[in-house]
Order: sequence, then C-alpha cells, then structure tokens
Amino acid sequence: MTHLDIRDLALQAGFDALFAAPLSRLARWQEASRDVPQARGLFYDLPHRYPRMRCALILIKGYKPYRARPGLVTLSAYYPASQTAYAKAREVEEILKEKGHLALCHPPVPAKPLLVLSGKGFYGGNGLAFLEGFGSRFAIQIILTDLPLHQNIASEESLPTSCRGCGICRDACPVGALQEDGVNVARCLRALPENRPVPEGLRPLVGNSLLGCDLCQDCCPKNHQAGKVDMPEELSRALDLPALLSGSVIPLIPWLGKNYVRKKRLQARACLIAGNLMRRDCLEQLLELAKDEHPVVREHAAWAIGRILSPTSAPG
Ligand code: SF4
Ligand code: SF4
Repeated sequence: MTHLDIRDLALQAGFDALFAAPLSRLARWQEASRDVPQARGLFYDLPHRYPRMRCALILIKGYKPYRARPGLVTLSAYYPASQTAYAKAREVEEILKEKGHLALCHPPVPAKPLLVLSGKGFYGGNGLAFLEGFGSRFAIQIILTDLPLHQNIASEESLPTSCRGCGICRDACPVGALQEDGVNVARCLRALPENRPVPEGLRPLVGNSLLGCDLCQDCCPKNHQAGKVDMPEELSRALDLPALLSGSVIPLIPWLGKNYVRKKRLQARACLIAGNLMRRDCLEQLLELAKDEHPVVREHAAWAIGRILSPTSAPG
C-alpha cells in the first residue's frame, strides 16, 4: 500500500487527518521527551518490543464541543469522539491485516506525546496537546504497522505553531490546577479519582458534568474556531439523571466504551449532579443511595441530600 492508499483508508474510516511516525526515530524522541513533562517516564521502546513494526500511524478524529445543557446532565464531547476513534482504528487495523500487513491497534505508547514529539503538534499552557486546525479538540489513535512509511501523509503540511502563552486557561481553571510549570493533576477536575469521594470543596465545581471538565479548553483562543454542537438526542436520553441514579448505564456504552461506563462510578457522580442541580425530584433515590454498599456513592448521596435540603443552597 502507498501512503496515499493509507490516507484514503483512514479518511474513509472517518478520521480527519493522519501522520506517519517512523519507529526508527523513537530513540531520538525519547531523548527529547526529557523536556516534555507530559511524556516523562512514558513507554517508548517500541522498536525493541515490536521489532517487525516500522511505523506508527497517528490517526486524528476532530470533534466539536457540546453546547451547554443547563439543568441537564452533560459530559465532554471528547469521550464520545474518543470512543468513535477507538472503534474506527480497529476497522483500519483489520483492513491493513486483510491486505497482508502487520498492524497493531492501541499499542502501549502515549499517543499525544508521540504526536508532539514527532513534530506534528505542540502543548498548550493548559497541558493539552494541540494540533493546528483542530486546537485541542481531537481524539487520537495509534496503529503500529510494518509499512515503511516515513513521510507526512496528512493533507496539512506545515503544522505546528504554538500556544499563545496568554494565560487565559490558567485564569479560567476554577481549582488553580494550571501553574507555570504545568498541570497539577491532583487538583484537576478531569482527573478526579473514582475510588475516593470528591473533596467536599470541589463537589459544587463538578456542576452537571458526568465526565470531564472543558473550562480550560472552552476559553482558549486556539479552540474558538471549533464552534459548538447540540449533543446527539440518543446520548442525551442516556444521560437522564433519574436513570443514572438508578444505575441504568448500559445505554452509555456505545458512546463511552466499557472502561468509562462503570455503574458505581457514574452513580456516584450522578449523586453530585443531583445535588448541584437541586433536584428535589431525585430525593427518594438519593435517600436509597445514601444506604448503598459503595462508600463513595453513599457519601455523595448524603452530601447531595444535605445540599438540596439546605435552606441556603442555590443551584450549582
Ligand atoms: S480540566 Fe478543568 S480543572 Fe482541569 S486544568 Fe482544565 S479547567 Fe482546570
Ligand atoms: S488559553 Fe492561551 S495559554 Fe492557554 S492553551 Fe490557549 S493559547 Fe495557550
């Protein structure tokens, strides 16, 4: 297959751009990664682990963020885009194999650092990878192949520019997670651990979001070209708050994948949303969940009940 065949294959599968990164250069990238906080300590020894692979295909799926959904459950549009890209990458992998090539989807390589270190993207002050034409609004998939591709197979040729360093994202972060020297992941709302209760002071900041925090992307001038779209109706139905509180999460699997759709994790988050939205109609369910076997669900439900019944609370 030529690089043009590969490009057509990826575009037909629904990707918006792709690049080829030769594995022979990975040692150099590993060296360069010492200066990139996001890449430190990550795995790059692919030539050793996969000696027959020659190149990493970097597949890009852009997306537009969802419009705000006041009073309703929402989530970052990144997650459905990422799930779509995951499934599409499998299709590309299968076709490459059918054509007699070695192909391995989802290898253990950090995808966004690979994009940046191979010279196609750059990091912004919000700690996220950016790609010219997409801002930070894209999902990325990697496929290792034995194809000896070494040229830029994207239609966009002169890619990297840089973060403007304006600091708007830092000012927009409600928890001060963005600092001069990078992201303090321990504070970031996008990285809240699921096995521990969300710290009480952060619970109102979760707002109505089941997954993700988009504030430092929404405000970034590099992202303003993306525009916003309505959430698909079917996804919106799957985010019905009483249904989530009841543990009905299976309808979310096609949108988010099984990794994200864990019943207790989503129930616990739904409790916070019910509290933040002051959903009195959910009180009966919350009272039941306050006796749940899962300690995080219990604690979040109790907090939500207290918030809803507090005479001084206002909707978050
Ligand atoms: S995702 Fe949210 S909490 Fe995390 S750094 Fe960005 S604005 Fe701050
Ligand atoms: S808001 Fe400004 S500093 Fe932050 S990532 Fe965007 S361009 Fe860079």
